[in-house]
Amino acid sequence: MTTLVWFRQDLRLQDNPALTAALTAGHIIPVYIQAPDNKTPPEGGASRWWRHHSLNALQNSLNARGSRLIIRSGEPLAQLQNLIQETGATAIVWNRRMEPAARAHDASIKTALKACGIEVHSFNGNYLHEPWTIFNKQNKPFQVFTPYWKAVIAAGLNLPPQPAPDTLPPVDAALTSLPLNALRLVPAIPWDAGFTEWQPGEDGAWARFEAFLPLIDAYADARNWLDGSGVSKLGAHLHFGEISPRQIIQSLLDTRGSVLEPRGIEHFVRELGWREFGAYLAFHFPHTVDAPLDERFNTFAWRDVHTEAMTDLRAWQRGQTGIPVVDAAMRCLWQTGWMHNRARMIVASLLTKNLAIDWREGAAWFMDTLVDADEPSNTAGWQWTAGTGADAAPYFRIFNPILQAEKFDAEGAFIRRWIPELARLPTKALFAPWAADSATLGQAGVILGQTYPHPIVDLKASRERALARFSQIKTFTPTHLPAEAMP
Ligand SMILES: Cc1cc2nc3c(=O)[nH]c(=O)nc-3n(C[C@H](O)[C@H](O)[C@H](O)COP(=O)(O)OP(=O)(O)OC[C@H]3O[C@@H](n4cnc5c(N)ncnc54)[C@H](O)[C@@H]3O)c2cc1C
Repeated sequence: MTTLVWFRQDLRLQDNPALTAALTAGHIIPVYIQAPDNKTPPEGGASRWWRHHSLNALQNSLNARGSRLIIRSGEPLAQLQNLIQETGATAIVWNRRMEPAARAHDASIKTALKACGIEVHSFNGNYLHEPWTIFNKQNKPFQVFTPYWKAVIAAGLNLPPQPAPDTLPPVDAALTSLPLNALRLVPAIPWDAGFTEWQPGEDGAWARFEAFLPLIDAYADARNWLDGSGVSKLGAHLHFGEISPRQIIQSLLDTRGSVLEPRGIEHFVRELGWREFGAYLAFHFPHTVDAPLDERFNTFAWRDVHTEAMTDLRAWQRGQTGIPVVDAAMRCLWQTGWMHNRARMIVASLLTKNLAIDWREGAAWFMDTLVDADEPSNTAGWQWTAGTGADAAPYFRIFNPILQAEKFDAEGAFIRRWIPELARLPTKALFAPWAADSATLGQAGVILGQTYPHPIVDLKASRERALARFSQIKTFTPTHLPAEAMP
């Protein structure tokens, strides 16, 4: 029997249940299809860059084992049907995705192919426990992380991954494939010049994980440092399925014996749980990728980004708000495709609370610029910070970017790296240069309004306005949704 193995968000050979199942059944043909609408799921510029390099790595791994990746472009159902005709394949397998649009799309493809007599099987490649397997005692979906995570732990974290095949059957040389470059995934302008630290692909994922292991015991505290030196930076590798959470946990179990202690390991594994929780919410509340989970926000009066708030949104996107820690984080995102979790919360809080701009504007910018853009995690992060989501930050929690920077970038190295025009300021003036005296600014060569912007918003006054605006709709945290610290 010949089976098409349709690769999507599972760009690896190890622990790939769809691939393993297909190999057990017989001959396989690895396939990748670039959908023309770029909607299922939508992928931004940074993700497309990653995908290009990750597909390249996958091609190399398949070639090394005697197979090859057949690349096509077009509507996936039509392309799969073409491949069935060309190869005589009688079955198709894939690993499931969790983005609501992608799930709906996959379901319709499955129905259409089954109606033509094709065997279709899908597998859990990318999560510990898929959303439809975990419920609370009332058999309802959890909306709070801690009990959800306890239920996941109870369901078991020891889920042995499957090894990669040593060899693969050859693919008929007559079967045509597009060259990877034909998909035009890399940006036309050299925007990716700063993406130097990334190594997309399975080998890159393992190199990243192994480099992080010596840091894991310090993770619980070091994860807060804004320069990112205490975290794993595995997000994109996980999103593209170059490494699975099962593999990470198994590796930790093998080397350290437990993933529930000590503190650093437990905390890191709990963060993988937040990734699962994002997917869980996207599955059970699919409308929330584009609408607030808390319905009281349906009619919330965000400022209009097509008119009066447009300049503020642009300044935020370009790292020109005049608030150093925010600008450093936004410039780091633009140049490297990555931003630290706490920095994501700081910039999201400024956008949604101080600037009163709809979280969906920020989420869309992140989806376009993050290499680890992941619709479920991104939605959960934005809705949490805006106070519109499950388990959300209460409306009165508004991050103070000055205090956050003083605490988590105490020496100012992160700000100096990304805002060279402020680099010569003494640390005590770095976090709020508008409050520094003119002699201090002058000695550092800073002219506010010329070399670096005045702040676009008064932090104190906008905080008061946000409190008034948010309290109007009585966004007190409902008792059934207790607030928790964001991971
Ligand atoms: C506004 C906002 C937007 C976000 N957008 C995304 C996004 O598009 N894609 C994304 O993967 N994460 C997103 N996050 C979550 C988190 O910021 C990133 O997962 C994390 O910063 C990635 O860096 P890391 O790999 O070094 O994380 P580490 O701290 O090393 O954590 C390891 C892994 O755990 C998972 N993880 C950690 N924290 C979270 C979290 N809070 N929510 C979900 N998963 C988590 C990620 O897969 C991460 O790679 C967002 C958070 C916020 C506040």
